[in-house]
Amino acid sequence: MGTEAAHVVLLASPGAGHVLPMAELARRVVAHGSGAEFTATLVSYTNFSSAVHYSSAVASLPPSVSTAVLPEVPLDDLPADAHVETRIFTVVDRALPHLRDLLRSLLASPAGVAAFVPDLFGAWSLEVSGKLGIPGYVFCTTNVMALHTLIYLPHLDKTTACDCEFRDLPEPIRLPGCEPLRGADLVDPVQDRTNPAYHFMVEVGRRYLLADGFIVNTFDAMEHATISAFNALSDKGVYPPAYAVGPFVRTCSSGGGDAGEHSCLRWLDEQPDRSVLYVCFGSGGTLSTEQMAELAAGLEASGQRFLWVVRFPRDKDRSASFFGGGHGHGHGDSPLDYLPEGFVERTRGIGLAVAEWTPQVEILNHRAVGGFVSHCGWNSTLEAVAAGVPMLAWPLYAEQRMNAVMLSSERVGLALRPREEDGVVPREEVAAAVTELIAGEKGAAAREKARELREAAAKAWAPDGPSREAFQAVAGKWKKAASARACAICG
Ligand code: UDP
Repeated sequence: MGTEAAHVVLLASPGAGHVLPMAELARRVVAHGSGAEFTATLVSYTNFSSAVHYSSAVASLPPSVSTAVLPEVPLDDLPADAHVETRIFTVVDRALPHLRDLLRSLLASPAGVAAFVPDLFGAWSLEVSGKLGIPGYVFCTTNVMALHTLIYLPHLDKTTACDCEFRDLPEPIRLPGCEPLRGADLVDPVQDRTNPAYHFMVEVGRRYLLADGFIVNTFDAMEHATISAFNALSDKGVYPPAYAVGPFVRTCSSGGGDAGEHSCLRWLDEQPDRSVLYVCFGSGGTLSTEQMAELAAGLEASGQRFLWVVRFPRDKDRSASFFGGGHGHGHGDSPLDYLPEGFVERTRGIGLAVAEWTPQVEILNHRAVGGFVSHCGWNSTLEAVAAGVPMLAWPLYAEQRMNAVMLSSERVGLALRPREEDGVVPREEVAAAVTELIAGEKGAAAREKARELREAAAKAWAPDGPSREAFQAVAGKWKKAASARACAICG
């Protein structure tokens, strides 16, 4: 019994940005050690999960990873303008009874459950797993700074006057080992105390303390001071420990996209080395009509080569296409119809606009790509790091403003940051910033940092690499839990 594989159950929140890294974690768990030490079940939600990139990522998992999908839950009672976070929390909350049933049945199976690993939005599920006696480890698909900020929220909530929004805090928030953050840099839902998602987020911070540990998709060279400071607090019993096990990024061959023969790769083949800006705002980011026009005009004026993943513009919600809201805009068949008149023709040869989706990992690793205009989603960031591509930080929603602060800090130095005016980056600024990134001195410095980080990322999982060691530490705890269960069953 003691030699049987330990079984780990992983629960991915709705959305590609959550499922893809969780699938990668599942892959690493079962590949760990001799390759026969762990089996895994990757659990996901029916809601928001039908996209083709999701299915291909899951289809490429090894046989020792089983999959399970929680049944769809109704959401028709939510207001049409409900916040992204509110929608995710509602799905996660309403699916809890299904999760409980699933965990119970897995627990009763011969393999049992050595550990339960939900991601960011799985805070509520920790109570379910805890009541069943299963150790819970939260997989943070962002970074330790974002994790620390989240755990700090209940304190910030308590100590900030209730008529003061965080964006109006007069002093920056200073957490040990983190860049100082303006209140306005905190995640969107906590910017408005009347938003139901505000209370969800504060509650997440509280419930995270139920975890036995945090598995974080970051690595030492990226956040050395932040990780050390967090774990110093953990040593004092303030927080559960954080294991920095990243970067987990898809490789060109690991699926999750429609890679291969995408025509934009053939277009890149014809461009000079490091000359092209890749412009993409994650799986869900959208720009306002005004911002889309300014970005187009700025790219055109810069004369730099670009490959732009264009979405339908949205004036209210910067994460509108996260759940497919970018499709079926109603006025046109393609987001390219919303580009300024004549833009595609005028930029032909130096620019390529692609509707909706591209094989991002392949693009970032193409020799022709020299910079990445990015919303700073953490997966996109790590993919840029692994490819050694410097960034122009253009945060839109979620924790992206915090990421942008970190990436453009002197310490990390991977990204330049364009200046906004009243929430819009004007065309002159776009043109200046993209030119600086591709051809300027600051861009060259960011490229050098990207190169250093790429090397450090590649070593993180080498034998004795810090991320491999952190992973071994947590895997050791899971093996112990499995052996203790086996002993208890055998008497
Ligand atoms: N992505 C992609 N092609 C696209 C847009 C996004 O392959 O055209 C992938 C990207 O490589 C990344 C994920 O979608 O792995 C987006 O995750 P991220 O955390 O960057 O942002 P989110 O979508 O969660 O805001």
